[in-house]
Amino acid sequence: MVRTACPLDCPDACSLEVTITSGWITKIDASPVDASLVDASSNPLTDGWICKKVKHHADRVYSPERIMTPLIRTGKKGSGEFRRASWDEALDLVAKRITQSIADYGPRFDFALFIQLIVVKT
Ligand code: SF4
Repeated sequence: MVRTACPLDCPDACSLEVTITSGWITKIDASPVDASLVDASSNPLTDGWICKKVKHHADRVYSPERIMTPLIRTGKKGSGEFRRASWDEALDLVAKRITQSIADYGPRFDFALFIQLIVVKT
């Protein structure tokens, strides 16, 4: 069992206990505050609690449906039409769109909005 912290972009920063068997994650659960630990590695604010999303994270990581290569949308949003792309092509496309956005809107453009736009317009 490995004690760690949730790596997702959530402000809770829950403490986790991850069980690994033969190199595979077999269980993810909350890490309750353990007063005996000198390093206080448990988050007292989320003591013994994690969300359902992370509790079942291993199911998604090992799912045969997990997307393992970049996909570029070829149809309208929601149409489910994509084509596979290489990592080089995908990264080149993102770099091109960032460069174009900086040229169009300046270096302080809203990156979060950019990500939404690239997903919608690609
Ligand atoms: S386990 Fe869930 S609630 Fe906790 S930090 Fe991660 S994403 Fe946020």
